[in-house]
Amino acid sequence: MSEEPAPTDIDELVADLEPRRALVMVAHPDDADFGCAGTMTLLCRAGWEVDLLVATNGNKGTKDPNRTGQQLAAVREEEQRRAAAILGVNEPIFLGFPDGYVRADDELRGLLVRELRRLRPSLAITFDGFRAGFNHRDHRLIGQSAYDAIYPAADDHLFYPEHREEGLEPHRPDMLLLSGATEPDVIVDIEPVIELKIAAITAHVSQVGGRSPEEMLRWWRERAGPTSGPRYRESFRKVTWERARRSADARRGGRGS
Ligand SMILES: [Zn+2]
Repeated sequence: MSEEPAPTDIDELVADLEPRRALVMVAHPDDADFGCAGTMTLLCRAGWEVDLLVATNGNKGTKDPNRTGQQLAAVREEEQRRAAAILGVNEPIFLGFPDGYVRADDELRGLLVRELRRLRPSLAITFDGFRAGFNHRDHRLIGQSAYDAIYPAADDHLFYPEHREEGLEPHRPDMLLLSGATEPDVIVDIEPVIELKIAAITAHVSQVGGRSPEEMLRWWRERAGPTSGPRYRESFRKVTWERARRSADARRGGRGS
């Protein structure tokens, strides 16, 4: 925690990215709100389209013995819809895998590739699936699958060639931000939108136990503690692909293949 990188100006970070469209890929309803709600809503304010893909239905996230997984899944999807609406994020995409059972297999990778080709984001956000130490299995595996979907699958037409029949062409985002990385190099100051982030988190009533936004903000403040950097921040490790930039340029110039 000693040498922290200087805060990143999010507008500057994404200034060269086209189109202004981001896709966030996470494991559970509420992951994105805890990890990057501030960044998502800052992008929305800057005129970006932000899509959110949630791999599981969150059907294990309760200690209440009287609640079935099916009931919980319906509740959690609805909570995620409400949270997304608060932030200005588009209607979430739910892949519906059972909570705790994300598998980094060809099926999941293909589903992610399909959304990348369909939505064509220039910016993608997911978990750092390569982080050492404690990490939720689903977070680790969606992070790895999203990475593998972006590179190399989504941009090479021989991966999942059936997508062509739907009119979906190869695509690769220019930038990937990994949330929960041990050595982040992008620190986003989310102070201007902290109330919105808290509102999005507290929309997950089944997870935060009906805590009020005020209560949650107080908890967040105490947790923030004394620091030289921004009081409220979201941190990421940035990944870019040289080839992504080149192929984007080529496409703009009318690539033949
Ligand atoms: Zn999670």
